[in-house]
Amino acid sequence: MDFTDEQLERYARHIILREVGGAGQVALLNAKVLVVGAGGLGAPLLMYLAAAGVGTIGIVDDDVVELSNLQRQVIHATPDVGKSKVESAAESIRALNPDVTVNTYRERLTDENARALIADYDIVADGCDNFKTRLIVSDACVALGKTLVSAALGPYEGQLATFKPHAGDDLPCYRCFLPEAPPPEAERTCSDFGILGAVAGVVGTMQALEVLKEITGVGDSLAGKILLIDALAMTNRKIALKPDPKCPACGKDA
Ligand SMILES: [Zn+2]
Repeated sequence: MDFTDEQLERYARHIILREVGGAGQVALLNAKVLVVGAGGLGAPLLMYLAAAGVGTIGIVDDDVVELSNLQRQVIHATPDVGKSKVESAAESIRALNPDVTVNTYRERLTDENARALIADYDIVADGCDNFKTRLIVSDACVALGKTLVSAALGPYEGQLATFKPHAGDDLPCYRCFLPEAPPPEAERTCSDFGILGAVAGVVGTMQALEVLKEITGVGDSLAGKILLIDALAMTNRKIALKPDPKCPACGKDA
């Protein structure tokens, strides 16, 4: 594919990178990424994917923008309060980069619709706020052989991991790491416990970075590891994750 003059200028800082180059930018423009959740993680994630020229971005979210979201969900602005999050996010993306085709799904991702939503995409980036949805997303990704970049937030911490059991026998899925969702009362959400706003920005931006790396093949994949981010101490710790042979989603002996 030939870049237009505008694309050559827009993506100049990618194209000049030896590891990315024109081929990497073409891969980004051809990539299809589904983002689950247009909230704390989804906001920076969507902005950086769009800015980088990821050609097709799907957004799944059934929520409406609330004033209390704006302290961290930087893709939405004050006039967006009351709008659907997917439409507000799509407007920001279109304003940032007209190269991006945005598909919006104003619905909750469930067991019933997960595979149909994910089927058209290459990579899924999960920024939802609950274990149940994370497991549904993971199981659908395993069934369809899609790479999943998953993140989660706490008040002052985050987790980030890439799951692609289809890419190697030594690689786990999310269900190997968390076999069952904890009871709902054990969930900690931002509305219950609060979150220092920029924590979402840091973790969501790191999630975007891992998606861009999976698309371009730059650097080391995070697959098979989980990164624990401690924002108070400003330290990161990487832990190896092993596949569970008995995992009902991806296990060889299940
Ligand atoms: Zn598994």
